Amino acid sequence: MNENESMFQPELGNFATDDTNAVVVPSAVESSYNPVPDTEQIPCYTFSCGDCHTVYSTIQEASGNICVFCGGKNVQKIESSDFQSYLVVPFTQTLEDAISEYKKKLRLNPFEPFSFVKKSTIAQMKKIYIPCMLYDFNVAGSVVFLAADKASKVPNAPMQKFESLYTTNFDYSNLLMSQYSKIGDSYLSTLNEYTFSDLTDLKLEQIGDSYLISGDADLEQMLESAREKVGKHSVHIVRENIPHELKKLQNNNTVTSNLSIRKVFVPMYYINLKHKGKAHIFLMNGQNGKSIIDLPMSGASIFVFSVFVFVVIFLLVSLIAYFI
Ligand SMILES: [Zn+2]
Repeated sequence: MNENESMFQPELGNFATDDTNAVVVPSAVESSYNPVPDTEQIPCYTFSCGDCHTVYSTIQEASGNICVFCGGKNVQKIESSDFQSYLVVPFTQTLEDAISEYKKKLRLNPFEPFSFVKKSTIAQMKKIYIPCMLYDFNVAGSVVFLAADKASKVPNAPMQKFESLYTTNFDYSNLLMSQYSKIGDSYLSTLNEYTFSDLTDLKLEQIGDSYLISGDADLEQMLESAREKVGKHSVHIVRENIPHELKKLQNNNTVTSNLSIRKVFVPMYYINLKHKGKAHIFLMNGQNGKSIIDLPMSGASIFVFSVFVFVVIFLLVSLIAYFI
């Protein structure tokens, strides 16, 4: 199981082999959309960047004049209250935690550009909330596999193929997907493991000096790809648990029902790092402190890496030559 799959684990208790050919018809669950009712009007200023097209909101008007994502000054104030319908995972990591994590990340990479360690760069560390969708799904129904085993007790006997029917009833909870394309699911899956036990309504005091980023992804498309993801994953789980050597999917009669959708802001610390006209980013999960930095490969690091690869290949070839 790879890292992406571990972010949503179904409960396996209801997974069963069915030899009676009884087809289980899943009860259709109406998909529901549960935006949080507007309890409190939050006065925010919303800006749109003309360079990177990021839309973001802040309660401090003056801090909105520079784009939170790209640092550009080509920004315009616009009207928006989209952020009001989001729940929030609160920050538990402090700005000091984020700065020390950033410095630690740089220490492990001795080839980083000098500008990355400058005080003025570190001073740009920002608290941002990334807009996400949090889905709960149920995948239920039957799956038919054609199975066979290579080894036969009778020598030279033709391989026996047989149909195997399985019923599934998997619950997937808290599948998190990013709604902001510039900090998308690949970043999110690296930094994930957010817990959602302390979700709260968006409150003014939680925003503080942070920025609320607006989503730019199509919600219908996101729901469709989330649905596809859990559908494929449940078939994958069934396949993994079939105790035969060869297995081929014959029929998939499962229904993926969407149990709930919540709009959630997840907390992150962020620095927009520029080097030779290229953008690089540092991101830290504001809840658990996991971080990621995308550093440019400098000429020196590429040289060291090449030498390393050469030495490894040389040693391998020497070893093989020695034993032949
Ligand atoms: Zn921008």
